[in-house]
Amino acid sequence: MKTDLSSASARPSSASESLVVGVDFGGTQIRAALARNGEILTRVGYLTRSEEGFEPVLERLKESIRQAVAQGNVTLQQVGGIGFCAPGPLDSHTGVLYDPPNLRSWHNVPIKRILEDEFKVPVHVGNDANLAGLGEYMYGAGRGLRDMIYVTVSTGIGGGIIIDGKILEGISGTAGEVGHMTIDMHGPVCNCGNIGCVEAIASGTAIARQAAAAIAAGRGGGILAQLPAYQADPHKDIAGRSAAELGAAPPLHLELEVDARLVVKAAEAGDPVARQIIDDAATAIGVAMVNLIHLFNPQMIVIGGGVSKAGDLLFGPIQRVVNQRAMRVPAQAVKIVPAALGENVGLIGAAAYVIYHEAGE
Ligand SMILES: [Zn+2]
Repeated sequence: MKTDLSSASARPSSASESLVVGVDFGGTQIRAALARNGEILTRVGYLTRSEEGFEPVLERLKESIRQAVAQGNVTLQQVGGIGFCAPGPLDSHTGVLYDPPNLRSWHNVPIKRILEDEFKVPVHVGNDANLAGLGEYMYGAGRGLRDMIYVTVSTGIGGGIIIDGKILEGISGTAGEVGHMTIDMHGPVCNCGNIGCVEAIASGTAIARQAAAAIAAGRGGGILAQLPAYQADPHKDIAGRSAAELGAAPPLHLELEVDARLVVKAAEAGDPVARQIIDDAATAIGVAMVNLIHLFNPQMIVIGGGVSKAGDLLFGPIQRVVNQRAMRVPAQAVKIVPAALGENVGLIGAAAYVIYHEAGE
């Protein structure tokens, strides 16, 4: 039974004191850290460069682990295990990566077995958003709770569901795909193939798409105004074409430079179009939160990821939707709060996964 991990981590014990390695394996970066008790002691990062193929990437991955350990002046024999997180789909029970996005030639890779053969320590493999949630639960905003849901809103939307001190992993190890909850059965097609997922409506990618549509419709001046290139010369597009060449419309090609961060900046500056886009995304996320509240009756929902930096512009409408739509009792029981751990949440979560398994054995 894995119970009461958060208070176990607050109370030093042999398990929570042990040195562990956390690895955050992504399509852009491979990062590894030596950690103790949720605190990062050393940190190593490499660009993944997946275009070079399987073997060079695997070698960089192993090297990042060796270096993180060596920089702490310890040996792998002193390390309790390696926690490894990657984007799904993956099987957290067998430690096999099925088909990670942005990682060509990494299909059905038994990464747990490969790293255990190499380093002779236990390796625990989990979905990056699940383990980020575990990190927030053990060492961040959810410390001391039993039931917590983590939601990350960035390029995509991911999550981790922790109930009674345990990560909900599901029979195939794929549970907690909060972003792929259908909230509009007639909505846009999602990357996953489903229709109307909250990720397809409210992720950073979806926010940028809405902004591009507003710019194309001539309503995006307030968003474009946040672009340095536009500030330099609002009469030229990124191909250097002048207003005369473009006609009356704003320089359309600048929309290619628009991302969610820019929309948030414009919303913060008071642009009504940007505000509406963020408000719509937050409303969609709020609807997803209502579903989670009804299903799981959590004590806390922790929202992280780049888009969560929009602060009250995001959290205000989410709370409003929950107040309007959710059943009274579970709505009053839940606190919806920003994540506490920042950019290292993946590394801390991966390291936490080792402690989680130690405590459960
Ligand atoms: Zn989806």
